[in-house]
Amino acid sequence: MLKAFSDLFNLFFPRKCNHCGNNLDKTETEVNKKCLFEIPKTYFLSDSDSPVNKIFWGRVNIEFAAAGFYFTKRSILQNLLHHIKYYNKKELAFELGRFLGSELSEAGSFKDCDVIIPVPLHPAKKKKRGYNQSEWIAKGMSDKMHIPLNTNLLNRHVNSKTQTKKNREERWENVRSAFSVDLPNQFTKKHILLIDDVITTGATIEACASQLINHTDAKVSIASLAYASSDS
Ligand SMILES: [Zn+2]
Repeated sequence: MLKAFSDLFNLFFPRKCNHCGNNLDKTETEVNKKCLFEIPKTYFLSDSDSPVNKIFWGRVNIEFAAAGFYFTKRSILQNLLHHIKYYNKKELAFELGRFLGSELSEAGSFKDCDVIIPVPLHPAKKKKRGYNQSEWIAKGMSDKMHIPLNTNLLNRHVNSKTQTKKNREERWENVRSAFSVDLPNQFTKKHILLIDDVITTGATIEACASQLINHTDAKVSIASLAYASSDS
């Protein structure tokens, strides 16, 4: 009965791909397979010399970093991230997080991580947007990777100005003291996986990792949905 109702509902109100607008089939959620598989993969999910790892060399002592997909201008991924940020599409963030989570599990990356922590938004910004997009990506990853999510222990207490027009140095000055760690002893001997939506200069996530490393004895790794190389 319920299935018949949902089939009927779908007939009149078909679910559509967030990128191309075509109807989704029953196995698809938020984005159809065609669009999903057109998003360029980095193929460096288990490479410790990857460009994403190199960003952090000499800056912060993390275990490992990975990004799932390349972020380029006018791409499917840019369009989807735009929907997530400005059109209230947190379910889309969750699905992309699941997609990344399954790629990472397949690559065998971050298997020994104990907890997933998204880069926090300042509470005022979170209230304005309605949610933290990195948190919803992290939720999807947690679901696929079977690693618990924590959103209470790392906090953002400074509402940094927008980063987009700043260079690496300015971005770092902007965020270096924006984060704080609550109850540091909760992290004892843990391996934390920090999550962001896009890594560009890495300044924001570096500030989070530094706080965690300076205030706890935890190990820290980093994963993001997308990597925007500076020449893209
Ligand atoms: Zn599509």
